[in-house]
Amino acid sequence: MSDAAGARAVCAVCPRHCRLADGEKGFCRAREVNGGMVVCANYGRITSLALDPIEKKPIAFFEPGSKVLSVGSYGCNMRCPFCQNDAISQRGECEAAFQMATPAELADAALRLKAERGNIGLAYTYNEPLVGWEFVRDCAREVRARGMANVLVSNGCAEANVVEEIAPLIDAANIDLKGPSQEFYDWAGGDFAVVCRAIRILHLAGCHVEVTTLVVPGRNDSDADIDAIAAFIASVSPDIPLHVTRFFPRWRMADAEPTPVATVRRLAEVARLRLGRVLVGNC
Ligand code: SF4
Repeated sequence: MSDAAGARAVCAVCPRHCRLADGEKGFCRAREVNGGMVVCANYGRITSLALDPIEKKPIAFFEPGSKVLSVGSYGCNMRCPFCQNDAISQRGECEAAFQMATPAELADAALRLKAERGNIGLAYTYNEPLVGWEFVRDCAREVRARGMANVLVSNGCAEANVVEEIAPLIDAANIDLKGPSQEFYDWAGGDFAVVCRAIRILHLAGCHVEVTTLVVPGRNDSDADIDAIAAFIASVSPDIPLHVTRFFPRWRMADAEPTPVATVRRLAEVARLRLGRVLVGNC
């Protein structure tokens, strides 16, 4: 897509709608314009690859006790000051070491680990996967062709057409709902309504969806905050699990105190008034 003057291409993947000149990278650092087209610049560029327990995603109610080969690249379209994974999420190609891998190579690796170590499939995680959604799509097709599962761990801040294209390929997802309002998302650099829409699309597509809220002291740690989050999730389905997790000092909030465990437990109790499955994390 190009803007009215035709001099810049417009990226339609997330609500930032970056307008980019040829050769320019988007806000996420993962996309760029090449020959007038916005392309996925981090395609196949792998910064992290590990066989993780699925509970680490966190996903608690899909294949519990299993392991999933987890892959990440670099880049993110949000700028949460509390980012817990900034070493790859808040970096570009010059700052994050990567190796190249094709979708078929990753799917083959996932299949080998099925026989050797009980791997169930491939998880797209660590950085924000949907800024490179074409790679997720292509990997997911290869993984499905081998009879294995696809797991998405995302901030959910992507336009509906992207989520709708990915959803049928995804078996389980954990989507962050980082705060209860656009005011919170203004601070974190995202779009509240877009994230809520992504959760709804994935659920309606039949994907197993779980949600995570990282409790950041002074930002989203009131009873009203978590009640608003739980109310939205319940409006989609009260059976969707919610992980209420503890913040540790990182990135631009390296000087902040960790969330008190008692706060996380109190907020989980508040959420349980609306939701059937609420878990605490990092406590
Ligand atoms: S995905 Fe990246 S390039 Fe595209 S609009 Fe979002 S931040 Fe900009």
